[in-house]
Amino acid sequence: MTDFITVSDLIRDCHSNAKMKGFWDASQNIPEKVMLVVTELAEGVEAYRNGIVIGEKDCFAEELADAVIRIFDICGYLEIDLEKELREKMKYNKTRPYLHGKKF
Ligand SMILES: [Mg+2]
Repeated sequence: MTDFITVSDLIRDCHSNAKMKGFWDASQNIPEKVMLVVTELAEGVEAYRNGIVIGEKDCFAEELADAVIRIFDICGYLEIDLEKELREKMKYNKTRPYLHGKKF
């Protein structure tokens, strides 16, 4: 028997936990929720700048996880099939030119 967790499973779990912890009681403002993803990424940049990449509280890896958890939570609330979006976008990206035609 194969035992694996899908992106959709993680989205359900993240959103369920966020609802249980009251994060959707305080606000359903999606732009605000998206900006909280950005704050996690900013925390990640600071951790990286301080050389705290993995293995410590508030390390770069943990902040990336926080950002993904917040994205999954938003997807759960809006019932976005992120697994499908990821597959389609990755397939499309493989057809794009080097650096997607940009300078960097
Ligand atoms: Mg964080």
